[in-house]
This record gives sequence, structure tokens and C-alpha cells, in this order.
Amino acid sequence: MGKEPDKSKPVPSVPDSSGSKTPTDVPVGSNDPKLVKIEPADGAKVKWYVNLPADETKKQGRDVTVKAYVEPKAAGVAVYFFIDQDNVSSRTISEDSEDLAASVAAKLDKTSVKTDGEGVAAVKFKLASYGGDKYRIYASLKKDAAKGDAGNVQTCEVEVWRKINYELEVMARPDTGDYSDLACMGTLAEKWKDLFIEASSVGDDSKPKFQIVTQADIKKGDYQKAFRKGATEPAYLQILYVHDISLGIKEETYEQKLKAVPEGSSYTDDVSVDYTGYVFDPKDWFISCSWKSGSKSGKFKKDDKNDDVTLALGVKAKDGTTVDRITIKSTSVAEVRSPRADVTITLKFKHMSVLAGYSYGDTAVVACAPVVRPKLATDDARNSLMTCLLHEAGHSLGLAMKATARKKAKNLAKANITYEKGGLHCHEASDTCVMFDTIPQTSPVRDPSFGDYCKDAMRALNLTKPGTAGSF
Ligand SMILES: [Zn+2]
Ligand SMILES: [Zn+2]
Repeated sequence: MGKEPDKSKPVPSVPDSSGSKTPTDVPVGSNDPKLVKIEPADGAKVKWYVNLPADETKKQGRDVTVKAYVEPKAAGVAVYFFIDQDNVSSRTISEDSEDLAASVAAKLDKTSVKTDGEGVAAVKFKLASYGGDKYRIYASLKKDAAKGDAGNVQTCEVEVWRKINYELEVMARPDTGDYSDLACMGTLAEKWKDLFIEASSVGDDSKPKFQIVTQADIKKGDYQKAFRKGATEPAYLQILYVHDISLGIKEETYEQKLKAVPEGSSYTDDVSVDYTGYVFDPKDWFISCSWKSGSKSGKFKKDDKNDDVTLALGVKAKDGTTVDRITIKSTSVAEVRSPRADVTITLKFKHMSVLAGYSYGDTAVVACAPVVRPKLATDDARNSLMTCLLHEAGHSLGLAMKATARKKAKNLAKANITYEKGGLHCHEASDTCVMFDTIPQTSPVRDPSFGDYCKDAMRALNLTKPGTAGSF
């Protein structure tokens, strides 16, 4: 609709035969401001890492500056902003309500702002810290506008992510090689990705030499500090694969009575004993080995030039299982049997009582020896150690914490604190959640996974500084 020309002003005498509009033929309100664009601009979905230090250029932190532009550029135009929450996932983290606590919920600092002289209205949008939430901000010149209203502009979809910078260190095996083939970082990354955590490798994958690590070593931090390189990164977690975590040395005595060999026959078999439940320090396991036959007695030596007594880690037993085997050489045994009397062999040795895994501060430790014999790496063993890794790293990130640690954890958001159902360890889904134990509860070992409650907790965790909860 054309406006009646204002007869009081001269009208340019432009011929109108072509039907083209004269400058006076301008629609009503065309000079009224319109929303022409918004930032972040609509387009592909954007991942925003809410647990990293605030830096909008890197899409980090919880704040997103939203700017709406009007044209013609004019100051003082009221722009209304609102959050599209339709894509926010349901959650069970709070027992009272599906809403997040105010401190971790999404919000706009203002819902209406007047444009500046450049025609720009800006608000700060604070993302919820809940992984996987997706938000879009709409701007409108109408108060109480709805999503589909004409004239609105909308940002891209912003998805809440967290990033964990992990550093991997795998100890050398006691015999040859190292434990790299058992480190399932790819699987960890996939499992975390489903829970909106991106695993990013930092530092240097060190391969510390074989050594016995104790729980006290880890608590003191000496062992892990020796080779951590990426610790200055935010949201840092160190993952260690070690031979074992020793809780102490135990001494055992093994005794075998050998019947006298009849005259004329000879003894050729090794005396050997297989162990599956013990963890040996191959450098320090032997105490003594002696024999007694009638009035005579003597000693066998360990690893001397005759190899009287040896320990072999990870050998196949007759029944197909893999064992650690202590052998007393047959020729040595034959020698002491020469009196043709009964022989008693007494072997004294040390083994370790061990922890399968441990989490302390920002260190998650997986012990390999309790699960795999040193030379082995089977799918079952990998899955077992994967259970342990998910479990210990889960503790480090804040899952299934001791009540005391949970209270002390100052920078954990309310959402973390409401993680109560699992207690120290999680019993959901008939104890099949990976936060129940470091040892798989099924045989053969199934693919380890978090139960629904722990999945929810993983999405709710404030991961600005993993390992805040101390020891587990
Ligand atoms: Zn645990
Ligand atoms: Zn659970």
C-alpha cells in the first residue's frame, strides 16, 4: 500500500509509466528498526566447553555473549531475548525435581535490552553446566514473542560439553615391553563422549620403568609427579597403568614331601607350583628354599648358575590357564634324592597384597598384574582393565565419592552434591554399574558401562578441576 504523497512538499517529476516506485512510494514503517542478525549466528551446532577457563573465542566457559543487530542502526530500541529449552534433556540427578539448581542452570542476565548507538543489543547467556543440554537464544522486537514469530532472529544451537585433558603413563612390564597394549584410551574416549565429555591427550605418554608402587607412593605424589608433563592444563587428569599397587608384602611357606625313589630309578620331573592369585615382584620374591632328607639337609639357590629355583611369570598351565610358576630344577632335586630317603622341600617366598585400582586427587591408577599375568593381553583382560579405568577415572571426576570428601569438595556444583544414591560405590542395576567395583562382576567380562544414575551424574559433574575430592 502506497502512502498518499504529501502535497505540501514538491514531488520529483519522475515518469511512472514503467510502474517503478517513486521515492515517495515507501511503505509505512519501512524506516522502523528490524532485527537483521544475531551472534552467535544461526548455522551448525556448536560445542561449548563449560568446564574450561572462560574464553568465548575458544568456546570455553559458561558465558556466551549474544548480540542482536537492528537496522537502520538506532539507539534505544527494545530487544527481547528468550531461551529455547525444548532440546534440554530430562535428568534425574536431583531427587526433588528435574530442574537444575539455580547455580548450574541456564539463564540470561537480562531478557530485554535497549540497543546502543550502533543498533546492537547484547546480553550474556549463561549455559547450564549439564553435559548434552542444547540451547538456542531468540531475539524479538515483540515482548512475549514465541519461537515461530515473524521477525525473530535465532542463534545457532549451543551444546554443553566438557573437556578432560588426560595424560597417560604406562609402566614397563616386569619381563619385556610395557603395558601400552592394555591402555584402552580409545574406548574411554568413546564412553565419555556419550556423556558429553571430550578426552584430550596432553603431556607426554611416558613409559616409567618397572617398579613396585605402593598406595603411600601415590598419596605422596612422588611416583606420578616424576613424569607428569601436562599438569598445567586445566581439567587435568593423570592416568597410570602400573604393574600393581602394593599394600604390603606377605610371606608364604610352601612345603612338598617327595617319596623316596626306589633303587635303580631316577627322578626327572621339576618340582613346580603354580600361582594365579598372587602378585610377585620378580626382583624381590625369594626368601629361601631348603631340603631335608634323613639326617642330611641343604639349600637350593635362586637364579644362580644352576638355576635351582626360578620364577616364571605368565606361563601356560596344563589346564590352559595362565599362571606364575615357581620351579625347582629336576637335576637339583635328583641330586638331593640320592640318599634314597624321603625328601622334604621347603620354599619361602614373598608376594604382594594388591589394589586393583586407585584414585587419588587428579591421579587414576589401573593395576595390571591383579588381572592379567604379565605377558598377557586378551580381550577379557582389556575389558577387565577397562572396568577399572572407567571406575577409577570416574572417582577422580567426582563419582561415587565418600560422603566426607563430598562435603569437603568446595567447587563442586549442587548437582554433584545431590549424587547421593550411589554412596561410596554404586549399587544400581543389580551392581552391574561400573562404579560398583574395579573388578568385573560377570564372566566372561562384558563391555563395562555406567548405569543410568551414574550416566546422569557424569553429565551433571562440574569438571573444572577433577580430583578435588581427595582420596577414594
Ligand atoms: Zn571405587
Ligand atoms: Zn552407577
